[in-house]
Amino acid sequence: MTIWNLGSINADMVYALPHLPTAGETLAASNLERFLGGKGANMSVAAARAGSRVAHIGGIGPDGRWALDRMTEYGVDTRFIAEVDMPTGHAIIAVDKQGENQIILYPGANHAIEQDQLGQALSQAVPGDLLVMQNETNAQVEAARMGCDLGLTVCYAAAPFQADAVQAVLPYLDFLILNEVEAEQLRESTGQSVAELPVKHVLVTLGSKGARYLPKDGEALEISAHKVKAVDTTGAGDTFTGYVLAGMDRGLPMPQAIAQANRAAALMVTRHGTADVIPDLKEVLEARFG
Ligand code: AMP
Repeated sequence: MTIWNLGSINADMVYALPHLPTAGETLAASNLERFLGGKGANMSVAAARAGSRVAHIGGIGPDGRWALDRMTEYGVDTRFIAEVDMPTGHAIIAVDKQGENQIILYPGANHAIEQDQLGQALSQAVPGDLLVMQNETNAQVEAARMGCDLGLTVCYAAAPFQADAVQAVLPYLDFLILNEVEAEQLRESTGQSVAELPVKHVLVTLGSKGARYLPKDGEALEISAHKVKAVDTTGAGDTFTGYVLAGMDRGLPMPQAIAQANRAAALMVTRHGTADVIPDLKEVLEARFG
């Protein structure tokens, strides 16, 4: 089985500053680090590190070849990532001495995915494969529709949350993953609680409390997170989603897939960084929590 991920790829550029800049101020950074990021890339890397076959559908610019190389190194199939004539998506992240940050996000090539590119990639998919998307690329509705027609299991992580975007893909979804804040935003925009949505499986992540699984034809279930000292929660949700998908791909019952995803995400919150520090399955299974 293959996990097809229509997803963003970002360069996270982290600048260390004495304080956050104010309007009109020029500030010299004392350090610059570049990381692979973007919710899409994080999810692809997580699922690949968990042992799944993952094909990423996305876009980069000429300045993003290193990101593609790194994804390949982490085991992601990058053949369906197109290089286009615009900058790779990036986040300019200013961090002050207290760890407070300011972020400028530029989607760039993440919004240049062509219908043909999507069609070519998904023409290789077989019924039963998983298709996942998040809200950092264009072409989500087209992909969801194609996935549905091809008999794929269509999954959507509703982040960053945008009511219109979720509602547009909702009719095609088998699986919706969102956090508590996004679930509340969705309730406000649709007037329905997540349990009432016409989606077979809904998964709500609850931060340090774990996750709640709401199957359409069964009992809701809550699976606790692990107690760890959190230092950086960036990428925890993406890692959780990647591991849930990989668990489904391996045929694990959902409670077990969620339990593994909680373990992987717990390790992630103890680490600084995103895609580059996602643990592999062996590490996740061997981890001991207090
Ligand atoms: P969130 O996006 O904050 O809901 O978190 C996604 C997943 O990461 C959760 O379902 C947990 O598995 C894990 N997680 C997040 N924060 C923590 C934490 N403080 N301690 C342990 N696990 C966490």
